[in-house]
Amino acid sequence: MAAAFENRLFIDGEFREARSGKTFEIFNPATTKSIGVVYEAGVEDVDAAVAAAGKAFESWSELRAAERAQWLLRLATKLEEEIPEMTRLEALTMGKPVHNEFSVPMGVEVLRYFANRAPDVQGETSLNDPSLFGMTIRQPYGVVGAIIPWNTPMLMLSMKIGPALATGNTMVLKSSEKSPLSCLVVARCLADIGFPPGVLNILNGFGRPCGEAIAKHMGIRKLAFTGSTITGKAIKIAAAQSNLKNVTLELGGKSPMIVFEDADLARAASDAAASILAISGQACMASSRIYVEESKAVTFLKLVTAEVTKAGVSGDPLAEGTCRGPQADHVQYDRILNFLDLAKEEKLHVTLGGARENKIGYYIQPTIIYEPPETSKLVQDEIFGPVLCVSTFANERDVIQRANNTEYGLYASVYTNDLKRALKISKKLQAGTVGVNVTSPTVSLDLPFGGWKQSGEGRELGKHALESWTELKTVLIGM
Ligand code: NAD
Repeated sequence: MAAAFENRLFIDGEFREARSGKTFEIFNPATTKSIGVVYEAGVEDVDAAVAAAGKAFESWSELRAAERAQWLLRLATKLEEEIPEMTRLEALTMGKPVHNEFSVPMGVEVLRYFANRAPDVQGETSLNDPSLFGMTIRQPYGVVGAIIPWNTPMLMLSMKIGPALATGNTMVLKSSEKSPLSCLVVARCLADIGFPPGVLNILNGFGRPCGEAIAKHMGIRKLAFTGSTITGKAIKIAAAQSNLKNVTLELGGKSPMIVFEDADLARAASDAAASILAISGQACMASSRIYVEESKAVTFLKLVTAEVTKAGVSGDPLAEGTCRGPQADHVQYDRILNFLDLAKEEKLHVTLGGARENKIGYYIQPTIIYEPPETSKLVQDEIFGPVLCVSTFANERDVIQRANNTEYGLYASVYTNDLKRALKISKKLQAGTVGVNVTSPTVSLDLPFGGWKQSGEGRELGKHALESWTELKTVLIGM
């Protein structure tokens, strides 16, 4: 059966079948049925993509930054026309509803942001030693790699290619085996606008062998990865054991949200529901642990339950008006159900949901667990599903200690009307981003995003991202 979508690899400016001829199936999680196959890149395809990127590097890196910006802006304009198609394909492959979809348009915005910042990469000068005129320059790494997850493919792709290509690198990017189709629309757009061949190569494939071959490749000098902490560790090992390539990691999270008694409780409850239900709980920065001050716990629990119930109504991801879709695949589905079984075993107080939904597709009820012990795996581990832990706290000291008491540190938030307290707590929270009276998925394109502790290393977005895709060189001129 011919696929109703592009299914080949994009190497050196053209679509190709995988050298091995191997394909793999893509499934619709709302029906559990196969929707077709895509070609699977193997090690030899990674080699071909790296060679194409190597060949393209000199001419791309020697363009004026403003010319690279023009190419990226042309790509963004073309992608804008394809937002409905990319949104449809992401709904089809991972169940993200087309209604109110924000990450695909945001991907286009991210690309424009970095295109416009392309000419804004500079070094420093030093005259501190009279015998020397010193300066630093920033230069691209050369051929770089990117490996992205399935939950927001187009946005993840933009966050990698935007700063990497703007600064003159050429790239080999692997999409996720669960949702490769919107990335192939990007490939088609590259071909349509005649984007310089080899500058961006896009591969469909599994973690092994394709992702691993990228992580180990001797011809790749920097690699940006977004995905789970466990894979992030494997990638760092592969990078260290090969050419010690520079690695940035955007990993998992278990983000705390602290709600003080003086906060706008209605707003906190509605933000909490939106955060845990975004992409059916499959967002790295989802606020999955809420700590509410004891005096307002009962009121808040009622409010948040009402908000989760209202916003958590599920349906067909392709239908207009559907707010929540299924989990992305049977692996995610089984994993979340295992956590819910554990909640039963541990006799946790489940006040809402707690089971699968009684319908076709990988749907799970939005779930609230009240006052779970801090040591429970449901409080410590990333569940990556619509499961919210709500706990109470007695004082500031206690809540800061508990908020920081996981191995993650991606996002944290605090709701209060006391600005002094908000600032004090922002400083104490161990997280790459802290929201005050806002929570995830709120981010700012011009400010860094990334994790502390086992949530990652390095930053995306903002000027930090541009810098992170360049090597720094000191040039000394004898006077
Ligand atoms: P994953 O780690 O299973 O896979 C991510 C990517 O890595 C996929 O493309 C996969 O094929 C590839 N991969 C798997 N094994 C590999 C290996 N050994 N070598 C090289 N590549 C390999 O993660 P996922 O299930 O796709 O995504 C969910 C995870 O991603 C969650 O933990 C979530 O928190 C995290 N995430 C983080 C962010 C962030 O910005 N911090 C954003 C989105 C998702």
